[in-house]
Amino acid sequence: MHLLMIETEARPSSMIRTEDRSGVRIITLDNPPVNALSLKLCGELFPIVEAASADPSVRIVVFTGAKPGFFSGGADINDFSQSPPPDAKSIRDVIAAIDKSDKTYVAAIDGNALGGGCELALACDYRVASATSKLGLPEILLGLIPGAGGTQRLPRLLANRTKIVEYGLQGALQFMLTGQSKDAKQAKAMGLLDDVAEGPVVDAAITFAEAKIADRRPKCRISEMTVKTGALPFLSMQAHSMIPMTVAKGGQAAHALVDALEAAVDLDFKFGIAREQRIFETLALSQQSLSYRHLFFAERELSKIPGMADATATEIEKAAVVGAGTMGVGIAVNFANAKIPVSVIDINPEQVERGKKFLADMYGDQVKKKRMTEDEAKARIEGVSFVTDYAAIADSDIVVEAVFESMAVKKDVFGALDKAVKPEAILATNTSTLDIDAIAQSTSRPAQVIGTHFFAPANIMQLLEVVRGKDSSPQAIATSMKLGRTLKKKGVLSGNAFGFIGNRMFFDLSREANYLIEEGALPQQVDKAMKDFGFALGPFATFDLSGLDVFHKINLEAPSTGARQSKIADRLYELGRYGQKTGAGFYRYDPAVGKGREAIVDPAVEAIIHEESAKLGIMRRVISDEEIVARCVYALANQGAVLLGDGVALRPGDIDIVWIYGYGFPPFRGGPMWYADTVGVKTVYAQMLEWKGRHGNHWEPAPLMKAVAESGQSFATYKA
Ligand code: NAD
Repeated sequence: MHLLMIETEARPSSMIRTEDRSGVRIITLDNPPVNALSLKLCGELFPIVEAASADPSVRIVVFTGAKPGFFSGGADINDFSQSPPPDAKSIRDVIAAIDKSDKTYVAAIDGNALGGGCELALACDYRVASATSKLGLPEILLGLIPGAGGTQRLPRLLANRTKIVEYGLQGALQFMLTGQSKDAKQAKAMGLLDDVAEGPVVDAAITFAEAKIADRRPKCRISEMTVKTGALPFLSMQAHSMIPMTVAKGGQAAHALVDALEAAVDLDFKFGIAREQRIFETLALSQQSLSYRHLFFAERELSKIPGMADATATEIEKAAVVGAGTMGVGIAVNFANAKIPVSVIDINPEQVERGKKFLADMYGDQVKKKRMTEDEAKARIEGVSFVTDYAAIADSDIVVEAVFESMAVKKDVFGALDKAVKPEAILATNTSTLDIDAIAQSTSRPAQVIGTHFFAPANIMQLLEVVRGKDSSPQAIATSMKLGRTLKKKGVLSGNAFGFIGNRMFFDLSREANYLIEEGALPQQVDKAMKDFGFALGPFATFDLSGLDVFHKINLEAPSTGARQSKIADRLYELGRYGQKTGAGFYRYDPAVGKGREAIVDPAVEAIIHEESAKLGIMRRVISDEEIVARCVYALANQGAVLLGDGVALRPGDIDIVWIYGYGFPPFRGGPMWYADTVGVKTVYAQMLEWKGRHGNHWEPAPLMKAVAESGQSFATYKA
């Protein structure tokens, strides 16, 4: 069909353009970078929709995005935290105006239609998208539910597009519960899209709408559809039981989503919409959603580093790893997955063989689980070459060292790398505890030396601490931070302090966990209390997983904090109880129980703990779970405040990201610094002073903790 453009109207708006073509009004959203449906944009969009509805010359209204890549990324998250002016228009008002209109509405999607963007598309009669588009309702990832009709329209649409109503409802629930987007082909298959366009999407959308009008189906409002199923109570019971049962475990939004879906089936549309809105508003104010939104913004801040505006990152096209141990091979996998060729060197041929086997097994498993084709797996394995000579890595853009944790060995390796590898290359160390500056001094290029601290298992854990030495250049920092993004990690910049950010704080948590068992708790109680709080793993299970031998060695080298060192872990170490790897640590492990990974309570450990309490003259007492959590988490927040005060960590949000992605802190609590804010820094500070009197000077609040508490502010908002 030839469509003649008869009128172009430039409205006095920078966010929205309209254009008329033979009875078709094209409304183009142009709000870079993601076409967020902010209150400001909606304020402009609302009268444009009303005008289109009132214009007798308009038959079809098309929504589209100005640039390929984004239809709309959804609502502006900043708007959730502010109360809008009473006359403000939101995406809900725009959608209600569409619902009232008798025109044919079609969404022409070229790129991402997410959240409110997807809901705007659902409000239209038809949805047409280019093949590369993606549709999603990711609100759950922010502790919310879709709040502009998505929970009411999607189940109605899918239930009416599938032969078995329940499948449609399940599909809708699944889509919103995972928050993962679908590509155009998948979205068409599930009934969310009407057509996938081959050519220009606006033309295809108009052609589609014209055909529907010719077919006497000008309107297809989801709000007018109903869902009939007798199976709902069973479905929703099943759904509730699949989600963590307690709201306190982070499932608040997920349970609320099931409730909203029930409303879509049980209630008339307008009542369902009202229910959705009430649920959304409750969630928007919930602690869980505020925590998720805090983390969303904290992640976006990570790359903002003061004084680095002019620094340019070098492109990493070729990488090398020294050491084919646990970490080295895991790090190499990251490069292979990012399609950056990587060479691995190790002095021990057995480790090289072990590394090759690890790659073959790991990628083989991916193929078996259908996460990757055989060709892809082969290409990734071939992306990792094992070499024996430093000459073979001379042209690498970055070398990551992951040899034994020994300063002497690392200095040797860096000296050799400095001579062998091109002068502009970055030499990075994966050390957990050693001084980056001392390592840098063994080279002639300290500005090019930096820490890249990966977490085990390096191919899985998302955290990367980038540790700047005193001489690390802005270019080395920018390159390492960018590498983090390339490797799909959360890169957090840390200063060169013992233990950097994460491990330094973990020492304080360890100290408290050990004191608690000396005073009357047992490892299983501490671990359970921390897991109930939401941690992925309790501290004693963590010791056993990482190895008591590793902690023993680190403790020997750690600078003294003045706090008494508990002897319990040392006694277990002396008995050869290193944790899971030796079948015993704070717990016992039996190969026949949970493949040797399940912690079994061991009376022998309890006896040692009682002996140590007696030696210290401690009268053991009953300790509440609340005290356990408060002592462990406040200890983290206080050390976090030390690191912020010393400039080791840039922002409280950076610390939270470290703990969420590196140490299993529950994301719905936002991280240790955010958690202290939610408790109230004043309350935390007062409790610390009380503990200082009772337990000793290690509870001395950090100067920053004191300052924030006395100012009545929070870590997140603190201004001196
Ligand atoms: P590992 O013992 O598993 O591996 C070390 C490897 O280095 C061995 O294969 C060894 O043969 C090789 N090696 C030793 N000297 C070498 C040399 N001169 N040249 C080439 N290869 C050499 O150790 P790992 O657990 O992989 O730890 C490596 C580094 O990563 C350490 O600095 C450690 O502190 C750090 N790290 C470890 C973890 C962890 O959980 N394992 C986590 C973060 C950081």
